[in-house]
Amino acid sequence: MHHIAKKIIGLTLLLGLLFSVSSLAMPRTAYAQQETITVTASTVNVRMGPGLAYNTMAQLKKGDKITVIAHKNSWYQVRLGSDKIGWVASWLLKNTEISSATNTRGTINTANVAAKENPADDSDTLGTFQQNTTVTIIYENSGWSQVLFNQTVAWIKSAYITKKDANTTQQNTQLTVDSTIKSLTLHEDNVKLRTTPNIGGHIKATLKNKAQLTYLATSDDWYKVQTKDGKTGYVANWTVTPSASNKPVTTNANNLAEATIVLDPGHGGNDSGAVSQKNTYEKTYTMQFVKKIAAKLRQAGARVVLTRKTDKFVDLAPRPALAKKVHADAFISIHFDSSPKSNQASGTTTYYYGKSKDKPLATALNKQFSSLPLANRGVEFGNFLVLRDNKQPAVLLELGYINDSNDYQQIRSTSYQDKVANDIYKGLSQYFK
Ligand SMILES: [Zn+2]
Repeated sequence: MHHIAKKIIGLTLLLGLLFSVSSLAMPRTAYAQQETITVTASTVNVRMGPGLAYNTMAQLKKGDKITVIAHKNSWYQVRLGSDKIGWVASWLLKNTEISSATNTRGTINTANVAAKENPADDSDTLGTFQQNTTVTIIYENSGWSQVLFNQTVAWIKSAYITKKDANTTQQNTQLTVDSTIKSLTLHEDNVKLRTTPNIGGHIKATLKNKAQLTYLATSDDWYKVQTKDGKTGYVANWTVTPSASNKPVTTNANNLAEATIVLDPGHGGNDSGAVSQKNTYEKTYTMQFVKKIAAKLRQAGARVVLTRKTDKFVDLAPRPALAKKVHADAFISIHFDSSPKSNQASGTTTYYYGKSKDKPLATALNKQFSSLPLANRGVEFGNFLVLRDNKQPAVLLELGYINDSNDYQQIRSTSYQDKVANDIYKGLSQYFK
């Protein structure tokens, strides 16, 4: 893993906790309000943080039950047995049963409260909570509360916490409306319709696979929807698709399956991009390719986010911004070249900007392009905004010259599009290994 900084902070701390706390063997009661998930995939990795960049700390197997504590960037923070806290990709936990309700939260009501390793005054101190800090309570036991602390857990005296009413801890919901979405189709079974846009929302209904929903609004990773029988509520965006073309997601916990990939179809709307000799536009083909690539990656279990889903204008700056927002593990921008005069140049080019951040991704993808029917012009430095301003590993692919008659014939062919999608899938699988 050349390209991603490993997060090992807290490992020692966590291991220490595992041995010390589990050896206490005192009775504790978990909060009943927490959500329990049953793993239905064969294996799912548990990581130190909410993303592929974090080390794997455990694996879950089919039938395992875990408690969900929090939700971030479509990853669930979960508590395993023996007080281990880790993160799992939520989209790999489909067909799960989530019991109900919200976590119990509270506010620290005293200045400088010691975060203890164990529920005892003479236990080691892990740090300090400032007054008015909001904490998530996992357990309560004999006057002590176990709370989340950084990437792990700590104990504080329950008297130092003022509990919040579960109903008042809901975040303010910010709704936006995406006018390009008309309706949504569920692509999995037993999806919960919730009262609020988070996994803590109460369940209003359980929806069946392929159910059609009316789209009302978007709130972060959730859609506000209306069901055929008139119920309104929220569903997670990874359970539905705005088009009917989505294939079911496999649940193998390989690294690509855990990855979030942003695909960027170049141009769109008024910006048509380069023009072919047949007067067709680059923007049309970038979208065709992205749809094929997205389908292939989703089939492999990856979470795929598009910078645009329709033929609309999207400025350059929001594209890398979206990659940052969803914590993309890779950003791939799709384009087609053109030469000043037609039939002057041919072939594919793979562009990177950052040598350490982007080039390994560019190299991994480019390796696969050697068997394409177009000449491979190699890996090149490219000073493009979508790469330069990107905080995530990013590449820009020029997949042929649209104003070269031979290249154009390939670009518009299904077989070339399928080959490219397959090569990107293979390249990413290697890259995330
Ligand atoms: Zn372009």
